[in-house]
Amino acid sequence: MSEIAITRTQQPKAPPPDESLAFGDVFSDHMFQMNYEVGKGWHDPRIVPYGPFMLDPACCVLHYGQGIFDGLKAFRGQDGHIRLFRLGDHARRLNRSAHYLCIPELDPAMVEESIRALIEVDRNWVPRKAGTSMYIRPTVIATETFLGVHPSHSYLYYVIAGPVGAYYKEGMNPVRILASDQHVRAVKGGLGAAKTMANYAASLYGAEEAQKAGYTQVLWLDALEHKYLDEVGTMNIMVKIGDEVVTPPLGGAILAGITRDSVLTLLRGWGMKVSERAVSIDEVLDAAKAGRLEMWGTGTAAVISPVGELGFKGERHLINDGKTGALTQKLYDAIVGIQYGTEPDPHGWARLLGN
Ligand SMILES: *Cc1c(COP(=O)(O)O)cnc(C)c1O
Repeated sequence: MSEIAITRTQQPKAPPPDESLAFGDVFSDHMFQMNYEVGKGWHDPRIVPYGPFMLDPACCVLHYGQGIFDGLKAFRGQDGHIRLFRLGDHARRLNRSAHYLCIPELDPAMVEESIRALIEVDRNWVPRKAGTSMYIRPTVIATETFLGVHPSHSYLYYVIAGPVGAYYKEGMNPVRILASDQHVRAVKGGLGAAKTMANYAASLYGAEEAQKAGYTQVLWLDALEHKYLDEVGTMNIMVKIGDEVVTPPLGGAILAGITRDSVLTLLRGWGMKVSERAVSIDEVLDAAKAGRLEMWGTGTAAVISPVGELGFKGERHLINDGKTGALTQKLYDAIVGIQYGTEPDPHGWARLLGN
């Protein structure tokens, strides 16, 4: 990749106090950008002051949603080091998402370098308080000015980042989820395996309905039979039934979560029985009734999100007495320990900034 040109802001802002941080509403002083045109390839990598950019109202992404993103975090440990969690895996996944959306290949090494360089420039924005982190959002949008439908001939890749607060301020909080046999998020053969805007648009209506019914998230079932678990909200779903941990297999409508992979790797390392197999809502409800169920979601934002209650067809089912399960808590602690550098990192998931 050619050298990244850096233009520093003339008006640096003061990062807000760590105590005030929420999620996704504060952004650091700079952003990374790079353009693509047919015949020219990806070119002009640069870090510039954060700010709005101009788009033609007819540009592709605004009409047909040809765009992708990823989401990862940098953590400042008590030792002062900044750690990027599974940077290489996020870069490779962005490239896989590009493939599904007919977006030209993004060299994962280039994606890694863009993120690393941006966090280096804005390192004073990585918060310090326990549980806080820097959320990083690499994004690609189709920019061709053209209302016909075909893959765009030009793209913008950009990266923005901002400090975010602790997801759990007072310990883990089990959520209530509603299994929907009405709405679906993604279908096999569609875009479910890509991190793309369209899947999020498709999730909004069902999520609103669940919230109106008093739930936090939707438990998405498969789109064909409305029978097998797919994902929860925008997280991967896992259950522990007896002594077996089960998560739906990849290869269809499911996004290959990197937290999902971290959890599966840890569990296998601990010698637990782990299955990537289809798991039906009936099997889960039976286990809940028998008191043999733990259930949690996995994703970068929350890491692990325990499920305390599951609604289905007008009935509410308590899971693990509505409390965070022991394994759920252990997984959370293990991953967070690696992210902040308080636990050994045998898989080399945390990459130190600056080396
Ligand atoms: C991003 C995402 C996840 C979680 O992936 P992580 O890499 O663990 O953050 C799960 N499901 C969907 C639909 C997603 O977009």
